[in-house]
Amino acid sequence: MSDSKLLLTLSGLNVHYGRLHVLKGVSLHVNEGEVVALLGANGAGKTTTLRAICGLLRPAAGAISFAGQKIAGVATDKLVRMGITQVPEGRQIFGPLSVHDNLLLGAYTRLRARDRGVEEDLQRIYDLFPILNDFRARRGGSLSGGQQQMLAMGRALMARPRLLLLDEPCLGLAPLVAKQIMETITRLREEGTTILVVEQNARAALKVADRGYVMETGKVVLEGSADELLRNRDVRRAYLGKDYEEV
Ligand code: ATP
Repeated sequence: MSDSKLLLTLSGLNVHYGRLHVLKGVSLHVNEGEVVALLGANGAGKTTTLRAICGLLRPAAGAISFAGQKIAGVATDKLVRMGITQVPEGRQIFGPLSVHDNLLLGAYTRLRARDRGVEEDLQRIYDLFPILNDFRARRGGSLSGGQQQMLAMGRALMARPRLLLLDEPCLGLAPLVAKQIMETITRLREEGTTILVVEQNARAALKVADRGYVMETGKVVLEGSADELLRNRDVRRAYLGKDYEEV
């Protein structure tokens, strides 16, 4: 992308959990309109990176900038208003509330501001995930894992994010449902949504991403276009499995 515009930049990010040094100088960027995959094994620091971006952790060192503004240490609710929304690992939907109310809660900052586009956006989410429309009156907690993932993504989109952070959206889902989630990411990308997605399933993530970063023990060890990473020998050996020869 020659006319790409930087939306998010992390430079030299360091995060500690007590005495544990978890992120050791992480630098990466996301351009407007891109889907970027953050890959790596368990414990590499992917979730911690997302938590730092959305204000749940204060980095010990390094900078995060979003749309030209420094945001390290800014409170999460302010970041949501600025346009960063996360779908956390485990979805965390409101189980006792209806599907419809879960979606409305995603727009709470906009409802307070009497934003008239909320109805339109609800319709957009129901178009994106027709099953949520069918189940709009059901309790969120009664949905299947895949439907809850759709609800969590729909709720996040109701905030009209400029940047959507997805943490392992396919975790624990049956292959067909995971495929559906990945297809939704492609559709969102086509509509211009910028996404940073953490995924253990490197193959699935690289199929929908423009670029990717590979993390190991708190550091970015590889970066490149999705195609480059799919062809990279180390990535194939470590994350794609021996059988992945058909690229
Ligand atoms: P996973 O796929 O397992 O979520 P990850 O790449 O997202 O892996 P993180 O969850 O960011 O990795 O964890 C990075 C390191 O930080 C791991 O060693 C983990 O055990 C540790 N860690 C994560 N959360 C905490 C916490 N709240 N307190 C202490 N250590 C933590």
